[in-house]
Amino acid sequence: MIYTNTQKLPQAYINACGEPYPPTPNRFSATDITAPPYVRVIRDTRWAELKDDVANMVWRVFGVGFHDFMRKNAPADAIAEKKLTIEYEGYQIVGVTDLYDDGVIIDYKTTGVYSLILDKGVKTEWRDQLNIYRKLWEAHGYPVSRMEIHAIARDWSEGKSLGGGGYPACPYAIREMPRVEIEPIISEWIRRYNAQEPCTPEERWERPPQFAVMKKGRKTALRVLPSYDEAFNWADEKGILNEHHYIQERKGEYARCERYCVARDICPHRTVMNGTVRG
Ligand code: SF4
Repeated sequence: MIYTNTQKLPQAYINACGEPYPPTPNRFSATDITAPPYVRVIRDTRWAELKDDVANMVWRVFGVGFHDFMRKNAPADAIAEKKLTIEYEGYQIVGVTDLYDDGVIIDYKTTGVYSLILDKGVKTEWRDQLNIYRKLWEAHGYPVSRMEIHAIARDWSEGKSLGGGGYPACPYAIREMPRVEIEPIISEWIRRYNAQEPCTPEERWERPPQFAVMKKGRKTALRVLPSYDEAFNWADEKGILNEHHYIQERKGEYARCERYCVARDICPHRTVMNGTVRG
């Protein structure tokens, strides 16, 4: 893998991005297991062809700095950034927990505020990551009473926080992750990895197209529906099929395939929303 610098960002920032490090055969991190197995297949088999641009790493660099700061300021009797490993189904499972404090596992994130509101902040990948850590700590004889995500919301707004609801009261938000039986999740990930199964639509972050019934001069939609026909029929029922209204198509996408996945330039299963499959 090589890092490119298309935006000509400065050397200090490039240094902060560090070097890409290749995957270790037969060893899976908690981060690997909470991403699609096929991403790890590509990393294993086509490492030298992978590229990423340092412009994509701004928040990662920010997150590393925050982690470093929190590690240096950890409570004296807590355990910060401890690496734990177990053997599982012939593989090593490894995880570095940001903080273990009196039975509480804490993982720091920098994220968009929406992630903390949707499903009360219980993202499946966060939940599974912390349950993998729980398995590692328990396997090494440490009890775990609670698992928490401590998130810095990058786009937090004081004005929006005044409305209450699920909006965080300050940019530092804590979300408890529920316990789940993690072994079947790890086993299924390993099975799919060995079978080299392509990513599911959910893993590709499928966002289907939408059709918005709009009123001229108004920014927000009157109604958003999954097909043009449904939007047309809804507008017809409301008696607003006239020159003051129109139907706006909002294009869908497989966001991970199209914009975020590190393998997107070489993956044979990359998919774009019009159904095109490369390779
Ligand atoms: S490009 Fe798409 S299908 Fe390929 S590994 Fe990435 S997310 Fe999965």
